[in-house]
Amino acid sequence: MTKPVFDTIAIIGVGLIGSSVARAAKEKGGATNVVLWDQNSATLGRAAELGLGKPAASMTAAVADADAVFHCIPVGAIGAAAAACAGAMKPGAILTDVGSVKGNVARDLRAAAPQGVHVIPGHPIAGTENSGPDAGFASLFEGRWCILTPEAGGDADYLAAVDRLAEFWQRLGSRVERMDATRHDLVLAITSHLPHLIAYNIVATAHDMESVTEGEVVKFSAAGFRDFTRIAASDPTMWRDVFLNNREAVIEALGRFEDDLTALRKAIRNGDGDILFDLFTHARGIRRSIIEAGQDTAAPNFGRDTKKT
Ligand code: NAP
Repeated sequence: MTKPVFDTIAIIGVGLIGSSVARAAKEKGGATNVVLWDQNSATLGRAAELGLGKPAASMTAAVADADAVFHCIPVGAIGAAAAACAGAMKPGAILTDVGSVKGNVARDLRAAAPQGVHVIPGHPIAGTENSGPDAGFASLFEGRWCILTPEAGGDADYLAAVDRLAEFWQRLGSRVERMDATRHDLVLAITSHLPHLIAYNIVATAHDMESVTEGEVVKFSAAGFRDFTRIAASDPTMWRDVFLNNREAVIEALGRFEDDLTALRKAIRNGDGDILFDLFTHARGIRRSIIEAGQDTAAPNFGRDTKKT
């Protein structure tokens, strides 16, 4: 087997993403040793029981020998966690994360990093609505994009560290894209953050209407509502932090969405079928291009086992 990319990595937060990085790193030659830390001792114990890596006695102990430290915790917690342990990192080591927002996290990581530690924020565009170490799996990142938002104009050592981190994610099966953090936040506001906000909102609206529909919302949920409830089952802490840390871009995307929704409402009120038909046809084409790009399956029911759903 090819030599692992890193000798030792530290995973801070062994939930869905952290445990998946740990599993994939071991299985696919990302790292020889994986050291684990989580603020929740039961979670840390469970991750060790699953054989995901060696549990550390403290967060500073976890990062001390690591060539790369991955913060896999909610976006709002990354700054304080990095500030509490980055001082214990080795010179030349990589300080990175998997957070769904990059601008604020990049700022916080840079503020926490001592001289000689390379800050390279990251975001694997892969996940599920589940949480915790049992929810993770090694193939989560296969065929998915991982966005890195390195600083512009770093020296040769920094650029080599960025290449190494990119190689790590490629070893885990990801395709890597380098991007400016502000651009990342704008792109993800429309492709991920806004859809989650809409899902949370439609579930809340439908719940409020239950008194009118007398249980029929749940009974007939397979008509479309159910797919929103899957997204809305995502972790509340994670999503609260995403919206608090990507305010400007989300508000910008939300404004555009509200304008388009108003236009649709008008078309329905005016009985303008052409506007509706053209928009739905266009949207269907976008769905096809996502499947062609290998980012989803064309199988019925999104490829889910229908017996389980
Ligand atoms: P998760 O399953 O809830 O796991 C997070 C773990 O981190 C929990 O065990 C949590 O402990 C622990 N934790 C929280 N604060 C901590 C701290 N200060 N120090 C140490 N451990 C701490 O969450 P996740 O879904 O893996 O998400 C982790 C990160 O990945 C987030 O930044 C998220 O934006 C990003 N991300 C998520 C997805 C997704 O689909 N889920 C996709 C891409 C990126 P407690 O249980 O005590 O809170």
